[in-house]
Amino acid sequence: MEGDQNSKSYSSQYDITEEQCIICYTVLIRANAVYCKCGHNFCLDCMKEYILTKMDEFDVYPLECPVPNCHKSLYKMGKDFLEKDIYKKLKIYRKNKLCMMDPIKQFCPQINCNGYGEGSEKYLKCNMCDVRFKQTRDPGKEEILNNCSATQCPTCNNLVIKPFGCMTVRCLCDTEFCLKCGKSSTDSHKYLNCAASNLEGMFSWWTILFCIYSIILVPFTPFFIVNIYRANWDRNYFFFMNEHLIFYNILLFIFSPMILVFGFFYLPFVVGWMCVEAVFDGKTDKTKHIFWFLLKVIIYFPAVLLCFVGILLGFGLLLIILPLMGVAYLFVRINVQTKY
Ligand SMILES: [Zn+2]
Ligand SMILES: [Zn+2]
Ligand SMILES: [Zn+2]
Ligand SMILES: [Zn+2]
Ligand SMILES: [Zn+2]
Repeated sequence: MEGDQNSKSYSSQYDITEEQCIICYTVLIRANAVYCKCGHNFCLDCMKEYILTKMDEFDVYPLECPVPNCHKSLYKMGKDFLEKDIYKKLKIYRKNKLCMMDPIKQFCPQINCNGYGEGSEKYLKCNMCDVRFKQTRDPGKEEILNNCSATQCPTCNNLVIKPFGCMTVRCLCDTEFCLKCGKSSTDSHKYLNCAASNLEGMFSWWTILFCIYSIILVPFTPFFIVNIYRANWDRNYFFFMNEHLIFYNILLFIFSPMILVFGFFYLPFVVGWMCVEAVFDGKTDKTKHIFWFLLKVIIYFPAVLLCFVGILLGFGLLLIILPLMGVAYLFVRINVQTKY
């Protein structure tokens, strides 16, 4: 293909080809065309316009071929067809963009200085003019985000505590957003679909396999719940697992069936306590404690039994529904993949 192009071209500068510009569909004239290494061809005007628009939008890193899903970089090629001063500007834009994307770096506020400072101190020193300026980044906030069960509200940027077991949270500014992907509920966001999908919005193979084989995997439910929760919602909830992850996972896997059975007996307490809290409306006094004590003594055994039956029934239902859901997810995923 390329050899063919070469033999045709150099005979005449204005050799007309059969190819069209992908953007404006005019027939390409060789002297006025840009041939990308990815095989996509454009006329010079469209290409220049495209790069200038990208520069206006400060969307210059990465600078990719305009064809959707083609990730070929245009930056190095730009040297051949862009005017020198534009290319120089592009180079500076890209340097600044990289600096902006780097969370450690911060631009120097001096006029006409292209330098930056980096570090986590309260004051940073510019690498070009040596001026010291105040750090606007908040390393304390970042530390909280990295090490605690907290997240940032997409609307007001305030820190919000992630409540355990919840898919969404409501910030003080009244924005409700998904704890997995950060989208707010106004985006007509489907929380359950989001929970079962990976970051590209497809049902993940883990979800599909877990659903289909749920009957065999039931004893290891605690293992899966902990890992799925950590991976999708809150890395820091079982914070001790961040170090020695494999060790804890092996332990968790081995003891999973025991934790599950223990959970059966523990759950009546949790539910009972929630009922007491509801009855006393969250207030604490002596009668509440007496009531709770009586509840434990008198109803504990029937409650445990009832709960046990309830959980078994619930599990039974889940074991019918989950494999069906797995098969449904599988079909959706295969359909999505064959479409592309
Ligand atoms: Zn064009
Ligand atoms: Zn391309
Ligand atoms: Zn400076
Ligand atoms: Zn907010
Ligand atoms: Zn989501």
